Amino acid sequence: MQPGSTRHAEETGHGEGLLPLVARMAAAYLEQAAGRNVAPEPSAVETLHQLDGPFPATPADAETVARWLDTIGSPATVVNAAGRYFGFVNGGTLPAALAASWLVSAWDQNSSMRVMSPVAAALEQTALRWVCEALGLPPDCGGAVVTGATMANFTCLAAARHALLARAGWDVEQDGLFGAPVLTVVIGEEAHVSLLKALSLLGLGRARVHRVPVDDQGRMRALDLPAIDTRTIVCLQAGNVNTGAFDPAIEVCSVVRDAGGWAHVDGAFGLWAAASPRYRHLTEGLELADSWATDAHKWPNVGYDCGIALVRDFNPLRAAMSVSASYLAHGSEREPSHYTPEMSRRARGVELWAALRSLGCQGLSGLIDRTCRHARTFAGALRQAGYEILNEVAINQVLVSFGPPDVTREVIRRVQQEGTCWCGATEWQGRTAMRISVSSWATTDEDVARSISAILQAASQAPER
Ligand SMILES: *Cc1c(COP(=O)(O)O)cnc(C)c1O
Repeated sequence: MQPGSTRHAEETGHGEGLLPLVARMAAAYLEQAAGRNVAPEPSAVETLHQLDGPFPATPADAETVARWLDTIGSPATVVNAAGRYFGFVNGGTLPAALAASWLVSAWDQNSSMRVMSPVAAALEQTALRWVCEALGLPPDCGGAVVTGATMANFTCLAAARHALLARAGWDVEQDGLFGAPVLTVVIGEEAHVSLLKALSLLGLGRARVHRVPVDDQGRMRALDLPAIDTRTIVCLQAGNVNTGAFDPAIEVCSVVRDAGGWAHVDGAFGLWAAASPRYRHLTEGLELADSWATDAHKWPNVGYDCGIALVRDFNPLRAAMSVSASYLAHGSEREPSHYTPEMSRRARGVELWAALRSLGCQGLSGLIDRTCRHARTFAGALRQAGYEILNEVAINQVLVSFGPPDVTREVIRRVQQEGTCWCGATEWQGRTAMRISVSSWATTDEDVARSISAILQAASQAPER
């Protein structure tokens, strides 16, 4: 190495060995994590206090900081990165996405504007188009890479709000909602709480919604839709967070379209079923909607955080999100921040690009098919052992009851404590259930077999009340 560059490295504090050291730490973490209890030991969580205290007066070198994180932080993680975490709907991180995330951090690109990062702008645009292709959506949709489905719902619904009010002669970005024509928002009784949060942030209100009754899988009953007009936003769901069920998109989207309303889809994970020829039929009709929110950090296994907002007509999205200032020169090419709530932003689109490039069409559909197959294996084994499966296992979600609520809760407690795998509790239409969500690329047949054994063992040991 040139003397000059060595000095530069010292000055900037990277040292020569820091990044290789951290790479070794990360590799060792992933290797050990696979064999470790999924939930961290309580003692490891307790030890985190060593990283607390008053803001230190003196600096610490980067290597020391990294070593603290590794020795104290790593043991306190939940092992999401191996194949036996089935909580919530958390995916893992594909190797290519992890690698891209490291580079993105080293690059430190601000993906707000093309001039700040041509690479982030280009790859984000490509990745968004690939997502549209994979999901069977119009390739020229307006799109934004955001932090998750909550923000994706927010982004899409801001476009919806703009479009419907603009048609009514109201400029909501300029004049706000006070005195605006009234919009009606229709949601299913089983809409995700984050959708309600997005509505609340937009001034559309959590309670000011019309709730449509649902069936035993949580699907909106299309026959119970209220009258829809040009000032109605209807929010469908693709993939109920418990059952994985899909709202009847063909019926609902056709009604909304004919009435001139706006159909929005919260498809945080379920929308990705469209990427598999085997499961695509479940998403039929969703392509008729006006906007779609989804997560790349769930089923496609991009690392956190990565959500995607897609809007059929990019104009209302742009109208809702773009800003102008004297120092922001605008060219003819897509400027990322014209489509996002954020201005400065991590180059998450690069990680999305890397994940999709590594999977390709076949890899993505294979990931969907494999995780759904694992879910059916779980359901079959638990049913065979005499436990009740509460949902139709249409995709990657399984709800199982072990009997009365307190018994089910005790089984879940034992499963989490034993540590082979991690599953959480949920309530489904008045029943207490354990939810198994198979969302990780890393889950193998062996992971499923070991987890089933651990769950059955916990169930057999739980006291009968
Ligand atoms: C997970 C989920 C969300 C929220 O997604 P975040 O990425 O956590 O913001 C919204 N809707 C549905 C259906 C989900 O499954």
